[in-house]
Amino acid sequence: MEACALLMGERTGNKVVVKDLALSDNVSDGDRGANFEIDPEVYLAAQKAARVGAPAVVGVWHSHPDGEPFPSDADRQRSHEPGWLWLITAVGRSSAETCAFEADKQDSHCLFACGLAITAASATESSQSV
Ligand SMILES: [Zn+2]
Repeated sequence: MEACALLMGERTGNKVVVKDLALSDNVSDGDRGANFEIDPEVYLAAQKAARVGAPAVVGVWHSHPDGEPFPSDADRQRSHEPGWLWLITAVGRSSAETCAFEADKQDSHCLFACGLAITAASATESSQSV
């Protein structure tokens, strides 16, 4: 089954800093091995929290069990939020690879590859304060 979560954080220009995750059950009506859907209640709760000071919803993460770390046709169809960061982790038997994509601001169904840097939270905090 594909796993999924909302990415919570801050966006500054082209830089997105993910500070937290809102884990969700995969509530897809389709084949959950090849599709995912964030629980609408998780999305609603995250949006409400953001309104009172929590990090904003900046994107979505999901896994591709035994797949490739690239958007599927279903992912492109499901991408409705312009500018969202999409992290996709391909999970193999002995390894996992994560790639980052951004939903185009004009056509959210277009997901284009972008850079991904993973740093410890403390390093992120210190780099932000410089
Ligand atoms: Zn996918």
